[in-house]
Amino acid sequence: MIGQTPDRLKSRKPRAFDLGGSARWLEAHMRTVIRRGPLSARERGLADRLMQLKREAGSHSPSAPTILKMIPELRMRVDACFLSNPYATELFLDHLYREVIRPGKLRMLLELYPSQNRVIAAKLATALDLPTERLFVGNGAIEIIQAILHRFTGPKLLVNLPTFSPYYEFARPDTQVVYNVLRKEDDFHFDVGEYIQTVRREKPDTIILINPNNPDGGYIPHAKLVAMLEELRDVPNILVDESFLHFACEGEGFAYHSLTRDLDRFPNLMVVKSMSKDFGVAGIRAGYAVMSPERVKALLDNGYLWNSSGLAEYFFDLYSRPEFHADYERKRIHYIRHSRRFFKALTNLPGVHAYPTHANFALLELRRDDMTAEDLVCRLLVRRGIYTRACDDKKGLEPGRFIRVASRTRSENRYILRGLKEALR
Ligand SMILES: *Cc1c(COP(=O)(O)O)cnc(C)c1O
Repeated sequence: MIGQTPDRLKSRKPRAFDLGGSARWLEAHMRTVIRRGPLSARERGLADRLMQLKREAGSHSPSAPTILKMIPELRMRVDACFLSNPYATELFLDHLYREVIRPGKLRMLLELYPSQNRVIAAKLATALDLPTERLFVGNGAIEIIQAILHRFTGPKLLVNLPTFSPYYEFARPDTQVVYNVLRKEDDFHFDVGEYIQTVRREKPDTIILINPNNPDGGYIPHAKLVAMLEELRDVPNILVDESFLHFACEGEGFAYHSLTRDLDRFPNLMVVKSMSKDFGVAGIRAGYAVMSPERVKALLDNGYLWNSSGLAEYFFDLYSRPEFHADYERKRIHYIRHSRRFFKALTNLPGVHAYPTHANFALLELRRDDMTAEDLVCRLLVRRGIYTRACDDKKGLEPGRFIRVASRTRSENRYILRGLKEALR
């Protein structure tokens, strides 16, 4: 269950891969029939408190731990709001247990300062096979996004809509934000020709692309993106956020194509990457950016000396080991395989349009008038303990109609599907 320490971490000897009993619980409850019809007074009360929390959280959702703390009666079973690979989290926990917790080394990670920014950048450079001078390590990608918008962006910023809200919220007050609206009629498809025209017309100094995009999962193929970068050499700052790239495969296999390999050719390019989603470790706050050495230096001159943590440093240590990498690749491919089946099943839900996705989540549009997105989200959470994301606050999406659902473990996905089918019946 959400927020519980896997049994493995409590016992002395780690057991085989297991989601702390939640998989078994889910299987048992898949067979029970949940009451249909309108919410009871008690359920309504829970739903109202949930909506209050959501309003207080602004343009982000309250985290699962916040909800559990504020509404303890709620039994949250599956967090399909947070967009992470749960198998990768297990992999990290396994290593943390064996190498840090069991041998009694946790104290060192918590009591002492982590290494300085440049030392951690050097470890990451090994893992990524990139020069250290090009790497900027952040306390999560969000710190880097803020740093770039504050340090490099000038008077005009171009952002696609819908988007990840910090890209416009963190702009400096003297930066004007203009939008390139992706249309739901085109499944939020990104049209390169149209985009280049917008750039020529608006003349932004900074452009932002999230690939695959959050919240719709739309993807710009690597070759197309490189061709576009060739055209846009005169734009001073191009930020590409690859936080969901590990889920986006091109061609037959499961390979993904990062722009970090093309950086030599484009001095205006900055590639931002969060480790929170694909490695399922948002709590340790680890992210990085790859950019020109001059830009890295400019940021470091403003601070960021000890902006990592002991746990993040341990993660980057692990990440630079080939055997960890190989294990992670297996988890990644396993997760993508069953996520694809899940997304396919979502397209068969009644009264709902599931947008095509290359990420680990899907955007759903309710195409019916008897239910709002908020109703659906509340119903799923209160009745089934499934936490999803209403997108009412997302600029560029019609309020009341959109929800975003993350793919979880295979058994959790079956449970989510079942919950959705029930709620939409
Ligand atoms: C979640 C998210 C981030 C932030 O990641 P952190 O590393 O947790 O700060 C950045 N970009 C996008 C597109 C995201 O969805």
